[in-house]
Amino acid sequence: DVLRTEDVQAARLKLPILAEEQQIMETINENSIVIIAGETGSGKTTQLPQFLYEAGYALEKQIVITEPRRVAAISMSQRVAHEMNLSSRDVSYLMRFEGNVTEDTKIKFVTDGVLFKEMQEDFLLKKYSVIIIDEAHERSAHTDMLLGCLSRMVPLRQKKGEPVKLIIMSATLRLKDFIDNPRLFKIPPPVIDVQTRQYSVTTHFNKRTEQDYLKAAYRKVVKINTTLPEGGVLIFVTGQREVNYLVRKLRKTFPLRHKDKLLESEENEKKEETQNNEDEEDCFDDKKKIRGKRKKIKVIPKINLDDYTTFLDSTIDNLSNEEYDGQSSDEDDVFDDVTVYRTAQPLWTLPLYSMLPTHKQQKVFQQPPIGCRLCIVSTNVAETSLTIPNIKYVVDCGKAKVKLYDKITGLTRYMVQWTSKASANQRTGRAGRTGPGHCYRLYSSAVFNDEFPEFDTPEIQLMPIDDLYLQMKCMKIPNIAKFPFPSPPDTLQFTTAEQRLEILGALKNGKITRLGQTIAKLPVSPRYGVMLVRSNINNLLPYTVCLVANLSVQEVLLETPLTPNDNQKETQKQWAAVRQRWAGQGNSLLLGDNGMLLRAIGAAEYEHSKGKLQEFCDRNGLRYKAVIEIRKLRLQITSEIKAHYPDYSHLVVDPKMEPPSDHEAKLLREVVLCGMGDKLAKKVSLEEVKDREDKAKFKYAYWANNMKEPVFLHSSSVLRRTLPEFVCFNEIYETNKIYMRGVTAIDPEWIPIHVPAICNLS
Ligand code: ADP
Ligand code: MG
Repeated sequence: DVLRTEDVQAARLKLPILAEEQQIMETINENSIVIIAGETGSGKTTQLPQFLYEAGYALEKQIVITEPRRVAAISMSQRVAHEMNLSSRDVSYLMRFEGNVTEDTKIKFVTDGVLFKEMQEDFLLKKYSVIIIDEAHERSAHTDMLLGCLSRMVPLRQKKGEPVKLIIMSATLRLKDFIDNPRLFKIPPPVIDVQTRQYSVTTHFNKRTEQDYLKAAYRKVVKINTTLPEGGVLIFVTGQREVNYLVRKLRKTFPLRHKDKLLESEENEKKEETQNNEDEEDCFDDKKKIRGKRKKIKVIPKINLDDYTTFLDSTIDNLSNEEYDGQSSDEDDVFDDVTVYRTAQPLWTLPLYSMLPTHKQQKVFQQPPIGCRLCIVSTNVAETSLTIPNIKYVVDCGKAKVKLYDKITGLTRYMVQWTSKASANQRTGRAGRTGPGHCYRLYSSAVFNDEFPEFDTPEIQLMPIDDLYLQMKCMKIPNIAKFPFPSPPDTLQFTTAEQRLEILGALKNGKITRLGQTIAKLPVSPRYGVMLVRSNINNLLPYTVCLVANLSVQEVLLETPLTPNDNQKETQKQWAAVRQRWAGQGNSLLLGDNGMLLRAIGAAEYEHSKGKLQEFCDRNGLRYKAVIEIRKLRLQITSEIKAHYPDYSHLVVDPKMEPPSDHEAKLLREVVLCGMGDKLAKKVSLEEVKDREDKAKFKYAYWANNMKEPVFLHSSSVLRRTLPEFVCFNEIYETNKIYMRGVTAIDPEWIPIHVPAICNLS
């Protein structure tokens, strides 16, 4: 029996899905595949697992729910545990490198990638009685893959006499891809449409589309907060950086008041948060404590609107950041153009993006301090997976950041582009949950009609599918091109994936090799898997683990100081000098950017052991949070390797490892080549360009992949002084020019040894 608290029970009863519990459960009992459609906030994710649990589906086997985003997997498992009055031992989550699953787990939230991996070990997923695919409309590549596999697995379990239920949950978008798709489901599954109480939302288009949407968004929020009635504001921008920028600017514009009293109440929370930071795993229990405490604390005296403190501006900034985050801001900001509205209602401004630590994300669900208006600046995570209560105004910039990928050359680019009409309408819908609302679109209706595509392209059609292709080979799926994808990738994606996997040695003549089998089990992409496997000699593994961790974290090295200072040029020069020193000499230097980062991380960890990491990072242009992330990843990758391969039980992570010797550095260069064999580049020779007027431009130019244009060594690469004849790189990306990232020099005679396939391909 589930013993819910009164609060929870009252909140549940307001959800439209509760009224349909009986019909939903009858349909599930009678059908093995059911689609549940309903708008965000109708209660699908939090309630369905509870219905199934109460109907006895978790008595013998587990209920598993997949989420395309890590944020959702963690926060939903916590929410469901809370609603059911159970602990994280019973309602748990599992994702790559992280989780709190126990042998008692009954309801398990996982990322879709994790379930797909589990399917390779056990195609029938025998430990589950129900498989729920959540947010199917987001069309993440793993979700699409899972749907294809599950469409075949469900009848198999039926045949074996161990039936399983498959529930697909989706917003009411583009259901056609699942229903009118005989290749996927011969008989279309029944669809239950959960009716949502959606209040009317008035959409306001801008007359003109503003180029600077951040400025436009800022102005709109100022207007809302100074002229419009009560109600929370939700702003959609495209990325973390933009979120943080707007948050800081808005906090400065509409500062909090009565700091002393607020601070007093938040003091305890701050203490809890420090604990939380140290131990995110155990989040749920801590959360409960916080919630409990906060309730008691919430006797904040009502704020007298005529009485507000007059801090100096800078003090306000620091204090308010401490209040929000329990720590002072690491990114000082200079906003010359900010007017501080001291008499307007204070704005309780919170950021929301997927990389934000869970306990900070949780803040959006809590009541703002009395007297403040809630204001959330978010990326598209708030579009569908998270529902924020009490939003009345949505401000939509209409854009989304997309990673574009060239299927032939592998060139990647981040582009901020118009989102789809479907997404824009989802965003608008956020304003009508608790009452009528307004959505301010910072673009014109003409742009919306003419330039917005109807739907987002499914991820599987946008990205390299090497990883998926290898996993499918591993699962012995015959004829992959005929696989029942909801929307199949194109032929080019298949052929390039196959070619690259041949180059890595994971496939040979289309068949999976032993190497391929091994790396398919590792929790990293195939090329990193190859590097790990190939470094299983001479104790290189700890280095490779660090290398792979470094390559997996974005922006470890800063290009410009976070705190703007007077002598930025000078700082950058100093950083460049430090980096060149880290790069070392001989083979270390030739290991290039990858070797330099190895040393940087070693040095940073050494300082960490002395308690001086932050200072060290600031001085040398390393991103503090990236260093922490890398440490976590190294530990996690190491424990995954140990879990899969008992031979490595002795493997330990020594954070402050000694830099590799010259011989080791040379071996590491070969290891890097094994993983990046499909990403080779050759120096553009002076001979080739000697007659050109612009030949000076080719000093740092290379020919790479099948690119018609040259690619360049970035000015931050430590190999700019060496200009090796042959290099391999981790990524090519385009900004103003096309650059290589993560460059290592290689010896051409290694190519036939380590990447024989490249010699057979034209
Ligand atoms: P759906 O999956 O249909 O989008 P959910 O089950 O995620 O809906 O959410 C149902 C309701 O539960 C929403 O109205 C939301 O406000 C509330 N809710 C979800 N998560 C939390 C949370 N962590 N704290 C408080 N309320 C939450
Ligand atoms: Mg949901």
